Amino acid sequence: MNGNTKEIVKKFNIRLTKSLGQNFLTDENIVRKIVDAANVTHNDLVIEVGPGVGSMTRELARRAGRVIAIEIDKYLLPALAENLSEYSNTVVINKDVMKVDLNEMLRAAKEEFMPDTVKVVANLPYYITTPIIMKFLEETPGIDMMVFMVQKEVAMRMTAKPGGKDYGALSVAVQYYSKPERVLEVPPHCFIPQPDVDSTVIRLNVYKDPPVQLENKETFFKTVKAAFGQRRKCLVNALSNSGSFTQSKEEIKEILKSQGIDENERGEKLTIMQFASLSNSFSAKKS
Ligand code: SAM
Repeated sequence: MNGNTKEIVKKFNIRLTKSLGQNFLTDENIVRKIVDAANVTHNDLVIEVGPGVGSMTRELARRAGRVIAIEIDKYLLPALAENLSEYSNTVVINKDVMKVDLNEMLRAAKEEFMPDTVKVVANLPYYITTPIIMKFLEETPGIDMMVFMVQKEVAMRMTAKPGGKDYGALSVAVQYYSKPERVLEVPPHCFIPQPDVDSTVIRLNVYKDPPVQLENKETFFKTVKAAFGQRRKCLVNALSNSGSFTQSKEEIKEILKSQGIDENERGEKLTIMQFASLSNSFSAKKS
């Protein structure tokens, strides 16, 4: 069967659900470019979130060793089953990805296929982009690369460097776990229905070891959150007003000084290295 998205949607009389972020890719050239960006090979186990009617799943199934596609919408299952019928290396799990125990899923998958690399490839539902990406980054060790289609504005934030308006807690979190790159811009006319926003494909090359050494990961993220919580305030005020630390304002000033960080600087100027050394000082002084 030909994987033409529009034909399948029509044939199965599928009503696209906006609240589930159902904007399906119709441009097969873009599908190929996304799968190219993940450099999918027969030694890969690929997890796809939200296969829709399987337009990208088919291309993944053709190139990967195994594909696990997690789709929340049970009404898409008949179309998916038909569209993927010729690929025995692919399974569809009908669940909310946020409720899937990904580690258990990977463990079970590896019992029957030992991949060289595990990749996640997805045209994500935009209503839940960040929680899905953070779930994979924070909770699922053993994934080597992730290629995601996201809203352009989210891609800018994930890849932003210190100093710009897009740089924030999301940039630091994503860049703590991975090296992100923007690989492709995708205009609205490549989808049905057309989304109201531009889209970007990003690749996250996941670090085996994080780029900074942390005494306490929780304190690191607490520091980042506090620094960006009041972006317009200088660091010393943002940190002391946050209520996240037991240290007094004077003690926070001392910590900043000991790290060579200007207390009047704004959080958005700090690199990940600086956030790490700052949070390590907070840990040393028991926040
Ligand atoms: N991969 C298809 C494509 O490129 O044409 C569809 C992509 S569409 C942007 C997002 C897909 O994610 C939809 O099929 C939607 O039903 C599914 N989805 C939405 N929320 C989900 C969730 N929490 N867990 C799993 N799938 C979800």
